[in-house]
Amino acid sequence: MFKSLGKPDPTPEKDWFNWKWQVKNIQALSLKESSFSSGATPYYLRLIEKNACLKPIVEISKKEFNSGRQSLKDPLGEKKHSPFPRLIHRYPDRVLFLVTDQCAVYCRYCTRKRFTGKKQAFSAKKEQKKILSYIKENKGIREVILSGGDPLTLSDSILDSILRQFREIEHIEIIRIASRLPVVCPMRLTSSLCSVLKKHQPLFLMTHFNHPLELTEEAQNALSRMADSGILMFNQTVLLNQINNHPSIIQALVRRLLYLRVKPYYMFQCDPSEGTDHFRTSIENSLAIQKELWGRLSGLALPNFSLDIPGGGGKAALAPDFTVQKEKRQWHFKGWDFVEGVYKNPIKECDLEPTDESFKNYKEEWDILKNQAYGKRNTL
Ligand code: SF4
Repeated sequence: MFKSLGKPDPTPEKDWFNWKWQVKNIQALSLKESSFSSGATPYYLRLIEKNACLKPIVEISKKEFNSGRQSLKDPLGEKKHSPFPRLIHRYPDRVLFLVTDQCAVYCRYCTRKRFTGKKQAFSAKKEQKKILSYIKENKGIREVILSGGDPLTLSDSILDSILRQFREIEHIEIIRIASRLPVVCPMRLTSSLCSVLKKHQPLFLMTHFNHPLELTEEAQNALSRMADSGILMFNQTVLLNQINNHPSIIQALVRRLLYLRVKPYYMFQCDPSEGTDHFRTSIENSLAIQKELWGRLSGLALPNFSLDIPGGGGKAALAPDFTVQKEKRQWHFKGWDFVEGVYKNPIKECDLEPTDESFKNYKEEWDILKNQAYGKRNTL
């Protein structure tokens, strides 16, 4: 099921399988100039050389220069939710730290084009200090997501020291690392990286595979190393016009990911960042894909389909609607394979809140989270 990409002849094995060599040798794929960074690792370039359908992901196209129907510099409205540069506090209980602007591939559909590969590189000590004290002060923050750029372009020792600092904060429960390195440079997932990540559990690795062809034998081995070390992995896919927008491709991707112990987590509508109109699918097309997968794939394999509301409204879940009719105390449904049924609400005493002692504790905990200020001092 997973084919080896192999190594090109003149390159010595010690280089090809060395992630630092791969990242150092990122090359652009086009003669065209773009104001946004471009390039990919030799590994990913070899993959697209063998599978031309993946080429548009990294090749600058003249379509990129059309403004299209929607073209936003900051589609997720991150700037307005940044208490200061490199920290995004969009949701009360979690923050996103843009630890580096460097990637190992510059995807033409990237939502954060305004930031990636702009030679700001690694966050300065001063910035990190500020971020750490902000997180320490805001006790409703329970989760830190390392993003960028790609955090796995950093060395093991730098990652280790950053992760340690977050782990020392008592109220931080979860750490996430979002990375495309497992796709474009699977040799990055070394045993030594696995040992570093293992020290800072609970930690989740968020991968970004878009197409089953990206699941090579090299990627399979890398993901197995991670899973065997006990690191939980979740995948986020972006639907891309003429690249992966068909149920047959998505089912092949998500079933293989699950087999490799990576939970398909999100399937995203492509964000309208600058020059991405040609990548975007219509919401109707994406929903039709989700509807066809529903019921035919197990819930474990089925990703949540979602879009980020342009301008910073956060995520909007999109799911096929199985409701046929809503009446006062009952709803009528038609399932994925057209079987119909009615759900009747209970006659009396439903929707009462629990009253036991433990509930009060959970309620207190919930109130802290709910009242946590976020972004540029928002509360709900
Ligand atoms: S941040 Fe992620 S999506 Fe954007 S260019 Fe880098 S790897 Fe690609």
